[in-house]
Amino acid sequence: MAKYVYFFGDGKAEGNGQMKDVLGGKGAGLAEMTNAGLPVPPGFTISTEACREYIRLGRKVADDVERQTREGLSKLEKSVVQKLGDDDNPLLVSVRSGAKFSMPGMMDTILNLGLNDATVDALSFRTSNPRFAYDSYRRLIQMFGAVVLEVPKPLFDEVFEGKKKQRKVKLDTELTARDLQDVIVGYKRVIKKHAGREFPQNAYEQLQLARNAVFSSWFNDRAYHYRRMNNIPDDLGTAVNVQAMVFGNLGETSGTGVGFTRNPATGNREFYGEFLMNAQGEDVVAGIRTPVHISELQKIQPAVYDQLRAITSRLEHHYRDIQDFEFTIQEGKLYMLQTRNGKRTGRAALKIAMDMVREGLINQTEALFRVDANQIYELLFPRFDPKQIARATPLANGLPASPGAAVGQVVFTAEAAVEWHRAGKGPVMLVRAETTPEDIQGMEVAAGILTSRGGMTSHAAVVTRGMGKCCVAGATGIEVDEHTKTLRVGKQIFGEGAWISIDGSTGQIYEGRQATVPADPNDPMLVEFMTWAEPHRKLGVRANADIPRDARAARAFGAEGIGLCRTEHMFFGEGKIEHMRAMILAADEKARRAALKKLLPLQRRDFIGIFEAMAGFPVTIRTLDPPLHEFLPQREQIMVDVERLKLATGPVKRKLGTEIRQRYADYGISDVKGLEALLRKVQDLHEVNPMLGLRGCRLGILYPEITEMQARAIFEAAVAVQKKGKKVLPEVMIPLVATPRELELQKEIVTRVADEVFKASGVTVEYLVGTMIELPRAALVAGEIAESAQFFSFGTNDLTQTTYGFSRDDIGKILPVYLGQGILKQDPFSTLDQVGVGQLVKLATEAGRKTRPGLKVGICGEHGGDPASVEFCARIGLNYVSCSPYRVITARLAAAQAGAAAVAGSEAGRTK
Ligand code: ADP
Ligand code: MG
Ligand code: MG
Repeated sequence: MAKYVYFFGDGKAEGNGQMKDVLGGKGAGLAEMTNAGLPVPPGFTISTEACREYIRLGRKVADDVERQTREGLSKLEKSVVQKLGDDDNPLLVSVRSGAKFSMPGMMDTILNLGLNDATVDALSFRTSNPRFAYDSYRRLIQMFGAVVLEVPKPLFDEVFEGKKKQRKVKLDTELTARDLQDVIVGYKRVIKKHAGREFPQNAYEQLQLARNAVFSSWFNDRAYHYRRMNNIPDDLGTAVNVQAMVFGNLGETSGTGVGFTRNPATGNREFYGEFLMNAQGEDVVAGIRTPVHISELQKIQPAVYDQLRAITSRLEHHYRDIQDFEFTIQEGKLYMLQTRNGKRTGRAALKIAMDMVREGLINQTEALFRVDANQIYELLFPRFDPKQIARATPLANGLPASPGAAVGQVVFTAEAAVEWHRAGKGPVMLVRAETTPEDIQGMEVAAGILTSRGGMTSHAAVVTRGMGKCCVAGATGIEVDEHTKTLRVGKQIFGEGAWISIDGSTGQIYEGRQATVPADPNDPMLVEFMTWAEPHRKLGVRANADIPRDARAARAFGAEGIGLCRTEHMFFGEGKIEHMRAMILAADEKARRAALKKLLPLQRRDFIGIFEAMAGFPVTIRTLDPPLHEFLPQREQIMVDVERLKLATGPVKRKLGTEIRQRYADYGISDVKGLEALLRKVQDLHEVNPMLGLRGCRLGILYPEITEMQARAIFEAAVAVQKKGKKVLPEVMIPLVATPRELELQKEIVTRVADEVFKASGVTVEYLVGTMIELPRAALVAGEIAESAQFFSFGTNDLTQTTYGFSRDDIGKILPVYLGQGILKQDPFSTLDQVGVGQLVKLATEAGRKTRPGLKVGICGEHGGDPASVEFCARIGLNYVSCSPYRVITARLAAAQAGAAAVAGSEAGRTK
């Protein structure tokens, strides 16, 4: 029979720290700590398999699970010599969720379970502390009501606040045992009314319902959304931990707290944490009372403090990673309630990994895996301009919860943040008293997050650090009123839409929009870390860059060339677009050549700039690719203007005339006739499906003179730069090829122009002509294409688009539903679909190399900066990935990790 329940207690656990799959992270941690002889309240873990079984059975508990839960419970009862629901010596437990991957704040814990009208009196009598007993009971009813019976939380708050008002007190702690009894009556009424049932008095029924609620909570929206954001599979399920309660709210010698063995924001080696005396569980993180710095504990209870330090540093050594822990002190005795590897900022991850190598805890290769390639991106976030910020006076300050600099317009709710974002109203700053898991979507779209309450371990702080988003938390000097939409700082009041700036590294808050400066790619820590990574990297990393400035940035981040230079981007902008339009609108080849002649020197100049910035490295230049209508005014707009011009008379007509002349200045149009001619041409170019229309190499096939001009610009620029003694390695890339013949025809033009230019200048430049593989057909006939292609570059954006038949621009409506129903696991445009699109990449690479051994193959497109996709590219033996300049370091680290993992994998294989 399957084992579903694992006991921990009496110095020994049935599970251990390796069993995260089965016990979840929390359960594995509790088992491991128990086995290490640490003071952990005993309990048992119901496995993730039980949760999966529950889901499979349509939200029903399997008989075996039920029986083993009862067995686990009686073992626990023996261990603590108490009984659940016993009205003399009742056992109270917590019911805690815990999945394989920690999902902070995603699924709620129920404390004090086992209390009912009878056991509460027993507790009161045994502790001689009726206030404590009734407070614990009302907390249970509230948590149970909200989490299990899904009664809206504010309804309980109303009862509680009502009582406080009636008693004219400010603090929760000022309510007496009698008051709390009234609150309990009120809470029960709320439950009866809104859940349509009584709060269960049977303690075992409480436990069953709580367990099942935890199982079900795996599918609540918050958990679901968190998994989407973090790429956690939906089918893992969560474990349930049932654990004997210990009480931090038994009086002034009791307390509860959380902490980190190092500073999770900076990575500095300092004991870090917060606690509250006479408090229970979530009080610390919920931000209801502002917690005290852990150093205070040393003064209040030095022995407990020393023990806590000793235990946590032991844990850090044991796990060889920064630990995030929870503890409770019950009447001077310390209990550990949780430990896990701490979430940290990118900078902290780097610092901790490097420090741990120096401390001998881990080696350099392990250190590589301690830094998330996506997170390292954070180090490249802008900071406030140090000179200017030194002169600015902060409005107020809070805790530097998650680093970076953020500038945005104040909004007070997550919904508003999402709305502003959707409407494209520019960056927003989400300002809240405190955040809750419901705010996640708003947090995701906000530039930064500012809260007035909560500490470094508050929801806002933890979640933003995971997101790599700037956050200042617990700014006690500000007042946030979500109802009146005001942020008050002293006498100053800021409403919705006001600009403020926050510094997540110092905790300072500023008025207005402070200037930021880009991050320093030469950050010494980062540079050193990358020297550890580089030897493991086999895959090349290039950048997508269209202008010299981006090319220089890419070089600074270590790009080894340009994998994609989109020439059409060069045509936008003053003094260029008009020639481009003239070229498109040309009536015949002669007119088109005249326009191209004007474009040639402009394009040549751009290429010179790029070649110079990339001297010594290859530059892949793609010939003209986009549908031409992108350069023209909208057809509908012209139609409307024609009609308006026709209908207008008198002064209206004159005014309209001026407007039209301005709008169509580039086309030299001044009257209806001209406008109608333009409309005819635009109609002519109009396509029903431009993404599949006249674009890519089809342009160069229909108008060879375009390719000719571009080739000329490329080679003349190459010759000019090489003459200055700089090495140039142009790679001309033909887009959207579907048949070998298309490439052959375009290649003929390119090589002919190259010969002409070399002959005329007397200088020869090494170059390649290759193609972008971005249509499924091209992937399928890649072997033939490689006869003329000297390299392949997979355009994975278009290849994804054409393989799935999803329009990249229109997937917005479909994607959430598809992700929701599990049809897609991830957005295929942000992470490569390895089993579908990836197979085409693999097949085409193999076929290409069969024809042309040693064929150089890379990818360009968004996927080049996505660590999982980079790993895939490394695994299937591509030569390089190309990504946006700011993603280059991420790609380099991901490639190094892939290299190190491959070596580790093959070594493991050999020893087996
Ligand atoms: P989360 O995953 O949100 O951290 P936890 O299950 O760790 O949820 O618990 C929430 C709070 O309740 C924490 O502060 C934790 O320390 C406290 N808690 C959980 N179990 C117990 C227990 N058996 N005794 C006392 N406090 C507990
Ligand atoms: Mg929780
Ligand atoms: Mg916890």
